[in-house]
Amino acid sequence: MRIFDPHIHMTSRTTDDYEAMYAAGVRAVVEPSFWLGQPRTSPESFLDYFDSLLGWEPFRAAQYGIAHHCTIALNPKEANDPRCVPVLEALPRYLVKDGVVAVGEIGYDSMTPAEDTALAAQLQLAADHDLPALVHTPHRDKLAGLLRTLDVVRESALPVEHVLLDHLNETTVREAKDAGCWLGFSVYPDTKMDEDRMVAILKAYGPEKVLVNSAADWGRSDPLKTRGVGDAMLAAGFDEDDVDRVLWRNPVAFFGIGGRLDLDVADPGATHEGNSILRGGE
Ligand SMILES: [Zn+2]
Repeated sequence: MRIFDPHIHMTSRTTDDYEAMYAAGVRAVVEPSFWLGQPRTSPESFLDYFDSLLGWEPFRAAQYGIAHHCTIALNPKEANDPRCVPVLEALPRYLVKDGVVAVGEIGYDSMTPAEDTALAAQLQLAADHDLPALVHTPHRDKLAGLLRTLDVVRESALPVEHVLLDHLNETTVREAKDAGCWLGFSVYPDTKMDEDRMVAILKAYGPEKVLVNSAADWGRSDPLKTRGVGDAMLAAGFDEDDVDRVLWRNPVAFFGIGGRLDLDVADPGATHEGNSILRGGE
């Protein structure tokens, strides 16, 4: 089983995770830029983070045989902090870089006017750079958040077929599918989707344009949930081609829209800017 996890925050994960992911079949990941838990206080700390998503983290992933790409954006939560908003001006110079395969995560957290502005501005940036957009949908008030997101997407210059709506569930999948967007589902240990609910959605709506991710980060999460969904699909009677479509071909198609996806894992060399993942003496 070959697996592409299209939403995972490897910066927050260990080398043990990389090893376990590789053993489970994960060969490619996309790491969306997001909120780090600790609030940032200036645009500069975003820039160092973006540089790490384009440099250090792909280097680390390559040591374990995994191709790493990222998405770049001002995340919905910090779009509400005036200290952070000026990072929008720096995004164009990141959105032209090879490792960037989408604008994201953008979208709504609390559905504030500041989030409206950041979402619309970043959908325009995606259109300007011929990149797709990874759009986070809110965890509270989900259907209202999804409908408002769709309104802003439809008013934007970005075609709906270049939009992945993430963190969907039973309450939002119908509207997202009817709108023509790509459909993202995050499978977590306790909340959001689990493997069995994911299989039920796949039975009801089919595998077309469906992407499944672990959204693993610094919270309670599991980077092997993608594999869990693949196993649950097979146990429920889906065939290997269906599993490959959901866990590999769909994310390859979506993140390939901008023409920058490179799934070859080049030899990373021993160091990145002089630093290795080893300790001492190497
Ligand atoms: Zn995320």
